[in-house]
Amino acid sequence: MTKGTLYMVATPIGNLEDITLRALRILGEVHLIAAEDTRHTKKLLNFYGIPTPLTSLHDENEREKSAFIIRRLNEGEDVACVSNAGTPGISDPGYILVERAVSASIRVVPVPGPVAAVAALSAAGLPMDSFAFFAFLPPRSSKRRSFLTSLSGEKKTMVFYESPRRLAATLQDMADIFGERAMVISRELTKVFEEILRGSPRSLLKELAEREIKGEITLVVSGAAEDRAAHSPEDIHARWEELRGDTGLSTKDMAGIIAKELKLPRKAVYREILRLSEAKDTEA
Ligand code: SAM
Repeated sequence: MTKGTLYMVATPIGNLEDITLRALRILGEVHLIAAEDTRHTKKLLNFYGIPTPLTSLHDENEREKSAFIIRRLNEGEDVACVSNAGTPGISDPGYILVERAVSASIRVVPVPGPVAAVAALSAAGLPMDSFAFFAFLPPRSSKRRSFLTSLSGEKKTMVFYESPRRLAATLQDMADIFGERAMVISRELTKVFEEILRGSPRSLLKELAEREIKGEITLVVSGAAEDRAAHSPEDIHARWEELRGDTGLSTKDMAGIIAKELKLPRKAVYREILRLSEAKDTEA
């Protein structure tokens, strides 16, 4: 008997329009949908008029339920796996099922779509040529701080999921451990109250002290390479050479412009310009 196919189907992270035509077709064609929360997915299916039966697959039952789903797949039925939001398996159930399906030589097909981490990264304005995703940080401060310390030399842009209840504590830990770095808080992406806040851990901590933060949050933090770049003068030097011809610009102005363009801390750029000017004066 031909085995069925397991489809890993991404669903919206808020806005119900964020689902692909292929995802809708597959959700309508499979024999069964394994969903993290059947009531939640039922709303999506009702919205699109999809009558496919649902079964639950969540963190607590993933092992036993995977065995049941693999049996159905072995009997030739096609199954779609979805989570409450975004891509199944990304900080969500799905991995155990995929692993078992692969071991049972069942075809696994991704049906791509939203991932909060990638959505946040795409609009953050921080380098995205390489990035590292760390999902949720440890909830306890001591573990979180040691985890962040282990990342303090990470050069890639870092992406984290965080709960609004722990946001202030996490920003404080990042301010202490990462220092002045560009970071972005992406809140309620694709939803009515979508908000993207840019700054450093300390400036955002200050900004948020006066208000209550709710909703779903993804943090994007620039890597250590940005800081390192602040101490490597080539780019600053080249731009300073261009700008210093303009006599209307003070050193402070130039530092501001370069810091913005290169996404570097202004103070570090200012110090570097002073050092370059002094070196020029000595040469002259
Ligand atoms: N599977 C999902 C994905 O592909 O992104 C992630 C599921 S994880 C359990 C949920 C976390 O993702 C939230 O706590 C939040 O950190 C982040 N998240 C989900 N939706 C979001 C949104 N609309 N805006 C910002 N962050 C979001």
